[in-house]
Amino acid sequence: MKTMKFGGSSVKDAERIKNVVTIVKESAEKEQVAVVLSAMKGITDALINCANLAASGDESYKPALQEIKDKELNTFKELIGTEKEQEALKSLEKMLTNLGEILLGIKMVKECSDRSLDLIQSFGERMNNTVVAAYMRSIGIDAEYVDTREVVLTDNSFGAAKVDYKESYKRIKEKINTIKGIPVITGFIGADPDGVTTTLGRNGSDFTASIIAAATGSSIVEIWTDVDGVLSADPRCVKNAFVIPEITYQEAMELSFFGAEVIHPYTMIPAVDRDIPIIIKNTMNPSAPGTIITREVAPHTRPITGIASIKDIAMINIMGGGMIGTPGIASKVFSALADYGINIIMISQASSEHSICLVFRAIQSERAVEALNNILAEEIKTKRIEKIVVREGLEVLSVIGDNMVGTPGVAGKIFKSLGDEGISVLSIAQGSSERNVSFVIDKEHRDKALNIVHDAFLI
Ligand code: ASP
Ligand code: MG
Repeated sequence: MKTMKFGGSSVKDAERIKNVVTIVKESAEKEQVAVVLSAMKGITDALINCANLAASGDESYKPALQEIKDKELNTFKELIGTEKEQEALKSLEKMLTNLGEILLGIKMVKECSDRSLDLIQSFGERMNNTVVAAYMRSIGIDAEYVDTREVVLTDNSFGAAKVDYKESYKRIKEKINTIKGIPVITGFIGADPDGVTTTLGRNGSDFTASIIAAATGSSIVEIWTDVDGVLSADPRCVKNAFVIPEITYQEAMELSFFGAEVIHPYTMIPAVDRDIPIIIKNTMNPSAPGTIITREVAPHTRPITGIASIKDIAMINIMGGGMIGTPGIASKVFSALADYGINIIMISQASSEHSICLVFRAIQSERAVEALNNILAEEIKTKRIEKIVVREGLEVLSVIGDNMVGTPGVAGKIFKSLGDEGISVLSIAQGSSERNVSFVIDKEHRDKALNIVHDAFLI
C-alpha cells in the first residue's frame, strides 16, 4: 500500500485534477493506493475570508461565497458533466447550501469562533475530495470518498488540533478495510470526541497523509506538490539552489520549521514512528526524482544540507543587571508569552545573563511587548529590568544539516563569510543537537546572506 497526497496547487482546476488522476491511476495499476487531497488552491483562504466578512455583520461575504460556489460547481461540471454522478453532485450542492447557512448564522451573531472557523474551513477538503472521487468513478476508476472527521480523532484545540494517534490509526484501518476501490481522503480535518469538526493547522494535509500511511501500513508516503523537491535554499533568491536528493527526518523537520514550505513539519511524526519514507514529488514534472526523506541517508560530503529562512521577524531584547544570577526570570517570560499565544522562534541568552533575546514573527511583536510589560511590571519598577527593546524588519536564517554534528568550523565559516561581506549578525542560536545554526540579520541583507552561505558550503 502507498499513500499519495496532492496539495492545493496540484488540484487547482479541472485540468490539474485530471493530471493528478492520471498519476494516481498509473500507481494504482501497480499497487494499492490511498489518496489524500487538500482543498483546491485558494479555497481555504477564500473560506476564511468569507467567515471574516460574515462576522462583520453585513452581506459583503456573499460575492465571495458565490465565487467559491461557482468554482466548485464549474469544476464538477467540467470534469463530470451534468448527467453522471448525480448523488455526488447533490452532496456537493448540499454542502454549499449548508456553508451558506452557517455563514448567515455568523453574519447574524456577528462573530466567528475558532470552532466555527474550523467547520467553515473543512468544506474546502470535503468538497474537493467529493468532486475528485466522483470524477474518478465517472471515468471508470473505483473510488470512494472518505471524510476524516469519522476517523481522525483529535482534541478540541481548534485551529491546530492535536491528534490521538492510537485511536485514529485504529479507526482509519477499520474504515479503509471496508473500502473496495481507492479511498479519496480529506486532508487537514478531524473531529473531537464529541464529533465536532477540527483542523490540524494550515497546510495540515501533509500531516493527514502521514497519519493515513502509518495507520494503513503504507510502505511510502508521496507528497505531490508544485516543486521538484526540497531545495537547498529559496530558489527565488539563491540562483545556485538545487533539489536535495535525500534528507533525514530530522533535517526535514528543521528545514520545514524554518520556512522551507514544501512539507508540514508534523508530517515527520507518524513517519518516524513507523519508519515510513516520505518522498516529495512534482505533479507538473512527475519524472523528476524528487526528495526522499528517511531515517538514514547515504553519506555525503556536503558539510550542511540546506538553508531555510523566515521573513518578517522581530527581535525583543530584555536587558537588565537585575537578571544576573536571578533564577526564574526566563521561566516567567516564557510562560507569560505562551499564555498570550505568542510563538517564540529563537532564543539566545549570553552567559553574562545581562540580556535575553527573543525572536518572533513581526505580527506578534506588539502583543509580545504588551505581555512582557505586564508580567515583568514588578521587575521593571524595581529596575531589575532596565529596558525592553524591539527591533523589526529582520529575517532569521537557519543553516541545517546532520553533517554539522561534531564537525568543527561550520559556524566559524558561516560567520566569517558573512563578516567578510560586511553583513552584521544580530543574534545567534545553535541547538545542542548541532543540526541547526540560526541567526538574525537585517532583512535588506537576506538575499546576499543566503547566497554567501549557500555558496560557501554547497557549491
Ligand atoms: N487546505 C488547507 C490549507 O490551505 C490544508 C492544506 O492545504 O494542506 O491550509
Ligand atoms: Mg501544502
